[in-house]
Amino acid sequence: MNSPHDDVLIIGAGAIGLSTALALLESGRGVRVLDSGRIGGGASHGNCGTITPSHAPPLAAPGVVAQALRWMLTPDAPLYLKPRFDPALWRWLARFAARCNLRDWRSSTRARAALLNDSSARLAAWVRDYALDCEYRTGGLDYVFRQTRNFERYSAECDALAEFGIASEIIGGNDYLRADPALREGVVGAIRFPGDARLRPDRYAAELARAVRERGGIIEEQCEVADLQPAADGVSVSTALGRRRGRDAVVALGAWSPAFVRRLGLDLPIQPGKGYSITYSRPAQVPRHPLVLKDRSVCVTVWDSGFRLGSTMEFAGQDTRLNEVRLAALERAAREYLCEPVGAHVEERWYGWRPMTWDDLPVLGRAPGYERLWLAAGHGMLGISMSAGSGQLMADLIGGRAPAIDPEPYRMERFA
Ligand SMILES: Cc1cc2nc3c(=O)[nH]c(=O)nc-3n(C[C@H](O)[C@H](O)[C@H](O)COP(=O)(O)OP(=O)(O)OC[C@H]3O[C@@H](n4cnc5c(N)ncnc54)[C@H](O)[C@@H]3O)c2cc1C
Repeated sequence: MNSPHDDVLIIGAGAIGLSTALALLESGRGVRVLDSGRIGGGASHGNCGTITPSHAPPLAAPGVVAQALRWMLTPDAPLYLKPRFDPALWRWLARFAARCNLRDWRSSTRARAALLNDSSARLAAWVRDYALDCEYRTGGLDYVFRQTRNFERYSAECDALAEFGIASEIIGGNDYLRADPALREGVVGAIRFPGDARLRPDRYAAELARAVRERGGIIEEQCEVADLQPAADGVSVSTALGRRRGRDAVVALGAWSPAFVRRLGLDLPIQPGKGYSITYSRPAQVPRHPLVLKDRSVCVTVWDSGFRLGSTMEFAGQDTRLNEVRLAALERAAREYLCEPVGAHVEERWYGWRPMTWDDLPVLGRAPGYERLWLAAGHGMLGISMSAGSGQLMADLIGGRAPAIDPEPYRMERFA
C-alpha cells in the first residue's frame, strides 16, 4: 500500500501542535498530527494551566544573573542551574545573560504581550465555539506576597505592563485576607490580573484533540518520527508506523525540537527548563483565584476536579528524575501561605520540560532554508497561554495570509 499523502503533517501533539492543527483545519487545510507518546503527554500534561498575559515580562530581567548565581548554592531555589559541562547550555546562558537589561526586557515583554493578548482572546473563543470541556474559568489570577520588598517591586512594574495592554489591581494585605479566608495571616499585599484565566491542561489537550478529529484531522499516537526529508512534492517523514508524506510539515516538539531539527542542519537554541507539579484531591478550603505565591515562585491552581502546586525552573538537561527536594519546596511554600496547603490524596507527582529560548520568545515561522518546513516551538513557561495565538499565527503564515500580529519577533532568523 502507498503511504498516505497529506496536506500538513504536524509533528508533536502537545498544546502547540494541536492548536496549530485546529487553526489550520479552520482555514480549510487538512492535517495529520504525529506523536511518539500520547496526546498532550509532554509538558502540556501536568503544568499549572494558568492563562497569563500577566506573565509578559521575560525571565531575563535586570538583576536576574546575580540572583541566579546566589541560587546556585540553594538546592530548593525556584531557579536552579546544575553546574556541568554542556557547551550548548553555556552558550544559551551567555545569550540569556546579555539580555538582562531594560531595553531587551521591554522588547521581549512587548512581543510576548502581543502574542499573549491575542492568544487569550482566541482561546476564550475556542472554548465557546467548540464547547471545550476543560474547566476553563476567567476572572483573574493573583500574585500574593508576604515580603514587602517584593510586593513593592512588582507593584512598581504594573505601570509598564499597562503600556502593553495588561491591566492590574493592587490590593492591600488586610483587604486581601478579609476577602479570601483560605490564606494565612502575614500577606502584605497582592496584585490581581483580571485578564488572566485558568484551565485544566490535560483536559484542554484532550478537548483540542477532539475538536481536531471532529473537523476531520487525523491524530496518530505512539508514532515516533525518526527523521524528515524534503521531497519533490513536499516533505516525507519516517515514523514508527511507516512513512508519511505531506505538502508541508510543522515541528511542534517542545523541548525535543532542537535534537530533531539538528539533523536538518538547524541550530535551535532551546534548553529544557525542568519544572515540577503535585496534583491533589481538592481541599475543603481553597483560594478564590489561581495564585502565584510570589516570594517562592509557586503557582496554585484549583479546579472542581483537583488542586495543583507547581513551579521551579531547573536547567539540568533532559533529566528524568523526580527531585524530592524540589517537590518538598512546593509544599513548604504552600504551607507558608495557605490554611489548607495540600489535598487529602496525592494524585500525581510530575515533571515537565519547558522549551526555553534565551529571549523567552517562541520560534514561529518557516525554517530557514526550507520551503515547506515550519517551526512552532520554544514557548517556555507560557505554552498553554500562547497556544491558540501561536496556532493561528502558524496557520496564517502557512496559508500565506497576513497574521493578526506582527510575526517578525518570533522568526528563527533572530538567532543568527
Ligand atoms: C511545572 C510547569 C508549569 C507550567 N505552567 C504553565 C502555565 O500555568 N501556563 C502556561 O501557559 N504554560 C505553563 N507551562 C509551560 C507549558 O507547559 C509549555 O510551554 C507547553 O506545554 C509546551 O507545549 P508544546 O506543545 O510546545 O510541547 P509538549 O507539550 O512538550 O509537546 C511536545 C510533544 O512532542 C512529542 N514528541 C517528542 N519527540 C517526538 C518525536 N520524535 N516524534 C513525535 N513526537 C515526539 C512529545 O511526546 C510531546 O507530546 C508550565 C510548564 C511546567 C513544566
